[in-house]
Amino acid sequence: MAILEVDGSLGEGGGQILRSSIALSLVTGTPFRLVNVRAGRKRPGLMRQHLTAVQAAAEVGQAQVTGAEIGSLQLTFHPGTVRSGDYCFSVGTAGSATLVLQTVFPALALATGRSTVTVEGGTHNPMAPPFDFLARAFLPLVDRMGPRSTAVLERPGFYPAGGGRFHVAIEPAAVFGRLDLRERGEIRARRATAVVALLKRSIAERELAQVREHLGWDDSTLRIESVAKAVGPGNVVSVEVESEHVTELFSGFGERGVSAERVGSTVAREAADYLAAGVPVGPHLADQLLLPMALGAGGVFRTQEPSGHTCTHAELLKSFLGSDVRIRKLSELVWEIEVPARA
Ligand code: AMP
Repeated sequence: MAILEVDGSLGEGGGQILRSSIALSLVTGTPFRLVNVRAGRKRPGLMRQHLTAVQAAAEVGQAQVTGAEIGSLQLTFHPGTVRSGDYCFSVGTAGSATLVLQTVFPALALATGRSTVTVEGGTHNPMAPPFDFLARAFLPLVDRMGPRSTAVLERPGFYPAGGGRFHVAIEPAAVFGRLDLRERGEIRARRATAVVALLKRSIAERELAQVREHLGWDDSTLRIESVAKAVGPGNVVSVEVESEHVTELFSGFGERGVSAERVGSTVAREAADYLAAGVPVGPHLADQLLLPMALGAGGVFRTQEPSGHTCTHAELLKSFLGSDVRIRKLSELVWEIEVPARA
């Protein structure tokens, strides 16, 4: 098969182009050469977390890889046969473990047998899906397309210490079925959780006070979780909206130099924007759903204004699969994204 050329400086120019190219390559059997790896980022090239994703995919898909080194700006990936099985991958730093899982997940969700995947690293990182988003928002929707996945967090890992670990069990499907998600339906539950690992409880209290103020949620929806068994300190606040047809989850991460008030109000505003739009799918979920949908029977969903990641994903799906993802603005706050079935 001819090798596909992919330009890593496309659109967002981030790690998503690398991870999604690998995921698409494993499922379709298409070899690719990626140039300008993460050219749009401050420190371009493969970082530890991306390298782990490449190595994980090479193991799962028995692939031949060149350029798999830290800092590499080029990579070639020739996939072999995907093998289901029991896997354990370790990022070795606080780099995102969930993004490593997402790289191999589509291939294992369409493999011939059951798999279990354990990943070690950061589980709650800025600029990546936190574990709770994976377990409560992303995987349940992909399950609706056919596979059955269960994710369990053993312990959280935060920047800079890392050391988190989770397990995902995957019962594969023959294909990803169609996803039709135009309506959110009735809201059934609202939850905001502030997690503090080896940090003061007052941080969590101040974050939740912002959620109460911006969203008007009462105390019965707010919860503080103190984690003692983390390797290093960390803080995450998540705001979850469980509706009839979908669960969405928004996250903010504690950082040195950023006040708890700022962390809490930023995530509360994201959730408020989602609630105001009345759509089922938020911006992060939107970009992540495109890949399984395009590999399967396609579908349609309504969402907020498409992010750079969503637009970049749409372009990448065009080059790998020839898919024409249609993005239409329906009103000031609502967009509809239609993904064709895989040809
Ligand atoms: P990249 O920046 O190219 O490495 O891609 C980051 C990926 O993480 C994208 O798919 C984002 O949608 C996803 N992501 C970033 N922040 C969050 C968040 N708070 N919740 C869920 N997904 C996220």
